[in-house]
Amino acid sequence: MAKHKVVIIGGGFGGIKTALELARDSRFEIRLITHKPTFRFYPTLYHTATGGSSEVSSIPLKDIFADFPGVKVIIDGARELDREKKIVKTDLGDEYEYDVLVLGLGMTTNFFGIPGLEEFAYGIKTNTEAERLKKHLHKHVVRHKHPDLNYVIVGGGPTGVELAGVLGEYVHEICREHGETNRSIHVDLVEASPRLVSTMPKMVSMRITRQLKKRGVRLYLNARVTGQTKDELMVSGKPIRSHTVIWTAGMSNNKFFSDNNFQLAKNRKVRVDQFLQAEPGIYVIGDNADTPYSGLAQTALYDGVYVAKNIKRLANDEKPEPYVSKRPVYVLPAGPDWAAVVWGKLFIFGRLGWWLRRAADYLAYRDYEPWFNATKRWLAESKEEDLCPLCDPEPAKA
Ligand SMILES: Cc1cc2nc3c(=O)[nH]c(=O)nc-3n(C[C@H](O)[C@H](O)[C@H](O)COP(=O)(O)OP(=O)(O)OC[C@H]3O[C@@H](n4cnc5c(N)ncnc54)[C@H](O)[C@@H]3O)c2cc1C
Repeated sequence: MAKHKVVIIGGGFGGIKTALELARDSRFEIRLITHKPTFRFYPTLYHTATGGSSEVSSIPLKDIFADFPGVKVIIDGARELDREKKIVKTDLGDEYEYDVLVLGLGMTTNFFGIPGLEEFAYGIKTNTEAERLKKHLHKHVVRHKHPDLNYVIVGGGPTGVELAGVLGEYVHEICREHGETNRSIHVDLVEASPRLVSTMPKMVSMRITRQLKKRGVRLYLNARVTGQTKDELMVSGKPIRSHTVIWTAGMSNNKFFSDNNFQLAKNRKVRVDQFLQAEPGIYVIGDNADTPYSGLAQTALYDGVYVAKNIKRLANDEKPEPYVSKRPVYVLPAGPDWAAVVWGKLFIFGRLGWWLRRAADYLAYRDYEPWFNATKRWLAESKEEDLCPLCDPEPAKA
């Protein structure tokens, strides 16, 4: 019997999970087309950017699919859809036929056209960006012997909060390592809304605000960034002098969807039906779909499992099951050993929250890797990577 051709675009949380769920079913010929040979584990990228091992935030796809020869991983970019012929055309000029298409392409950084940001701000959306930021942080202390006074993070959402919680300590650590002990530095967090993590209950915002203030983070709420130059960031009409501005504020949907005439909701995500289909046979999952909890790794993973299940049901000539969105458990770290957890009506703050976050990371690794690899990766979080990626080999000052 001819196999069902399943083409999955995007090797992220949703796409990989879909492929893994279908991988053991020999009725499917699975192709996973994705830009990069590694899976970006976003939740720990802030840790990689502040001295942690890159092992925790980057997982080679060849390791994930080592035991699944039925999944063909293709490193390429999807560019165009020919709906009539059921073909995906790629950046490298190849064409892939599909019976079922699953799209999980994730979001892209959006600077909202604010002058200077694209040129001067640092990002934290990819491993390359995290490494670039880490090198920059070192460069100022090691090469120029003057750390920036102000380190500015723009965006008081989960990523901005996570980073703000650890950045100051990391810069101090670099300074100590190089004998620059008398430096006073500031971490500023700029947010356009009146409170941090504004999609969370007010109590969570309050506790996170208190925690960050305790860690010396200066908050600029109701503050809008209007531009950046080499030496300063304009915030609500006033300049903040800084050479380290980290942009975590803006994301927009992948341009593949507007380029290929998908129906978009007001938030620019793809409209999907009760089976997560944008059109018959074309599923949209994770960050790209206009679903209640889209924008979280947990949702992308859940969507991947759901879609794979329905693809199997259809192959069995069974009716597909409608999608029921799942409320996620929110876990937001804000400094070492401290996290806020929102689990339905239950709120947990502090060290216990932190351990729950560690447990959640482990479970997430286990979703993609066998237990031995997942455990190794999870333990690597306590491993520090080369504190000084730029140093000359001379010994550090006492
Ligand atoms: C810094 C950061 C921290 C985060 N922390 C958390 C957290 O703690 N908890 C949480 O639940 N969520 C977190 N998130 C959100 C979470 O990572 C996303 O919701 C999740 O990654 C969405 O999964 P996805 O499969 O939709 O897309 P992604 O995981 O983004 O995967 C998309 C993949 O598609 C590839 N791709 C894109 N375009 C193309 C193309 N045209 N052709 C081929 N391949 C393409 C990309 O390279 C990427 O590999 C965080 C996000 C960021 C940026």
